[in-house]
Amino acid sequence: MLYDNHGRKINYLRLAVTDRCNLRCQYCMPEEGINYVDRSDLLTYEEIERIIRLFGSLGIDKVRITGGEPFLRKGMMECIARINDIPEITSIHITTNGTLTRDLIPRFKDVGIKSVNLSLDSLDPERFKMITRRDDLDKVMESLMSLIEQDITTKINMVVMHAQNIDDLLPMIELTKHLPISVRFLEEMPFNGIGIHDNMALWDHKRILDFIVQSHPDIRPLVNEPNSTSINYQIPGYIGSFGIIASYSRLFCGTCNRIRLTPTGLLKTCLYDGGIFNIKQLIREGATDDNLTTALTGALGSRAKDGHEAESLRTSHLINESMATIGG
Ligand code: SAM
Ligand code: SF4
Repeated sequence: MLYDNHGRKINYLRLAVTDRCNLRCQYCMPEEGINYVDRSDLLTYEEIERIIRLFGSLGIDKVRITGGEPFLRKGMMECIARINDIPEITSIHITTNGTLTRDLIPRFKDVGIKSVNLSLDSLDPERFKMITRRDDLDKVMESLMSLIEQDITTKINMVVMHAQNIDDLLPMIELTKHLPISVRFLEEMPFNGIGIHDNMALWDHKRILDFIVQSHPDIRPLVNEPNSTSINYQIPGYIGSFGIIASYSRLFCGTCNRIRLTPTGLLKTCLYDGGIFNIKQLIREGATDDNLTTALTGALGSRAKDGHEAESLRTSHLINESMATIGG
């Protein structure tokens, strides 16, 4: 079992498999001038499999594949199937923008995918286009419908942005009236390739909830799972639910069970840290599994207690990396 220096059990790896993306969401990356890493700097599928096998033997049982857009990487379904063959990994989850997935979804259960987080920031075609800088809402909606048809647990992630998609908050909740999904509203974070901007903190978790309660005074709090990042609610009579993720306020750090690997193999013990060590570099220098285990347990032995402390310990205090290089 893996524990950090604050006694938190670590069983969840979030792996960003690429920094490339076919969308250009405003809150995630600039429209132009993105310096994607060289393909030779990405973890190879063999390296990914070795790392997850080792981490599985140490106590990781849950893996999320994210990016960039994971399905831009060729052979992704086969990679997921190989991870699914590792006995210790009991659940695999995906975060995707849903533009490339419609035809793959019927095979998701076969390769072991247990649930999908689908990023969708607006149900309005024009707003979707403004936010993502691409005209792909139809493709995402087709993926959403296919996920429901295939009976795959689905959550929608919507980043709440002042003056951009506030008009989508209530329509998103209406989706949960007849669809068995959970919609999660995320506070915007500064991981956009540029850094903090004035409007970032305007819609925090309290304001999002207050706004919803004005139209739905009868919302019911749900019991949250132990390591849940979202605080969850349901409207009486609706079959789905919704949740609010205080990702910028960082309310959920106390029960954090997650570690992250970036596409280039940087291990992060917190979303807000600057990276602890590079596992790909160690592997390519010939590290044994024992060496990698020592590096991982060392990183967990001096883990920041929360995202605020992790941010304060960064050598570069400015947070301006793109979320596509971290995975969310
Ligand atoms: N491309 C995939 C997608 O969009 O789902 C996976 C990678 S994306 C970086 C993972 C998640 O991070 C998405 O749900 C996205 O909305 C969220 N995200 C990206 N940048 C963010 C930011 N600045 N603040 C809050 N959430 C962000
Ligand atoms: Fe791409 Fe996801 Fe970032 Fe949007 S949030 S630009 S879909 S990586």
